[in-house]
Amino acid sequence: MASNRNLLVLPGDGIGPEVMNEVRKIIAWMGKKRAVGFDITEDLVGGAALDKHGVPLTDDAMKTALEADAVLFGSVGGPKWDNVEFDKKPERGLLRLRKEMDLFANLRPAKVFDPLVDASSLKPEIVKGLDIMIIRELTSGVYFGEPRGRTKLANGDFEAFDTQRYNSSEIRRVCAVAFELARKRSNKVCSSEKANVMHTGVLWREEATKLHKEKYADVQLSHMYADALAMQLLRSPNQFDVIVTDNLFGDILSDEASMLTGSLGLLPSASLGAADATGRRKAMYEPIHGSAPDIAGKGLANPIAQALSYAMMLRYSFDLDKDADLVEKAIENVLAAGYRTGDLLVGNTDGVKKVGTQEMGDAIIKELDRLA
Ligand code: NAD
Repeated sequence: MASNRNLLVLPGDGIGPEVMNEVRKIIAWMGKKRAVGFDITEDLVGGAALDKHGVPLTDDAMKTALEADAVLFGSVGGPKWDNVEFDKKPERGLLRLRKEMDLFANLRPAKVFDPLVDASSLKPEIVKGLDIMIIRELTSGVYFGEPRGRTKLANGDFEAFDTQRYNSSEIRRVCAVAFELARKRSNKVCSSEKANVMHTGVLWREEATKLHKEKYADVQLSHMYADALAMQLLRSPNQFDVIVTDNLFGDILSDEASMLTGSLGLLPSASLGAADATGRRKAMYEPIHGSAPDIAGKGLANPIAQALSYAMMLRYSFDLDKDADLVEKAIENVLAAGYRTGDLLVGNTDGVKKVGTQEMGDAIIKELDRLA
């Protein structure tokens, strides 16, 4: 179906293409039954692109990504490419997309579905009803700061170094995304850094506070050191709504939060850029899991994280909230009916139906049919 919405699909490596196949079924269903159509281009990324083109992302694919309204990304990497030179590593394809699309705000929801409250490694009473959103700054900080590298010292030792660097605008734009999102949720933001020991942390806290005072005083703002936050996420995670933090702390804290929900196979993410004059933001949606080489090709992967990434795309790139709600509801109902891929077989497994990737995808489609 022709539409005004251009979507680039990059399935990538390992389980990426397997879970993306299931999402393509959901996309087709939404096109047919709810007139939510896309003009879809598909391309290679990561090891798959390296094998075919000698680079982890071609310039053509990069151009298509820059022109698309949204990119739906699978996952990249795997042991086959572990020893390729640094600049050709599959992950460089992903980093190039993030950098050139200037996707500075990474949204990672951690939500516990009621039927899976037993799957968390924490007690059900601690995680029940959990619904938090971690916003990680994605294009600056220590993963990009210069200088970086390694040198050989006079005594023969090697010394390696990275630079943690942030400027005011980088901090303000990601904090603005957090405040705006909080207004649509429980109106609470916790900003996290290590202002006690890092200059970037001091600047982060100053800028978050200033911006809050200038434009978002209606939102409740708190600050917490990143190490304290790591503890509080395990002790009483329900105290948080939106958390905003830098690239490095966000990487670690969002992985920690994801484990509160039970499985990597359930967690989507969105990465957003600045709004242009028409209000359109460059955006990429991807599950937080990797290419899972240990189960790739076996039909065992859970497609839910990829499907929820598609739902986030409907919500944040196209304002199709009702359609996103429908996909999320179908997934919750399928879980409530006891369908479980292997990664979800923890805790109480009485009455569950063990399924593979395709069966999980089919169950979601069947539930969409029923709900519609
Ligand atoms: P991983 O997320 O691929 O896997 C961790 C564990 O979780 C594995 O046991 C895996 O089987 C399981 N798992 C992950 N997703 C699952 C799903 N949908 N369903 C069921 N089980 C699932 O992380 P890893 O093993 O550390 O990394 C594997 C490769 O993926 C590496 O090459 C790494 O660099 C790459 N990676 C890529 C991305 C990305 O593309 N964004 C992110 C993380 C890791």
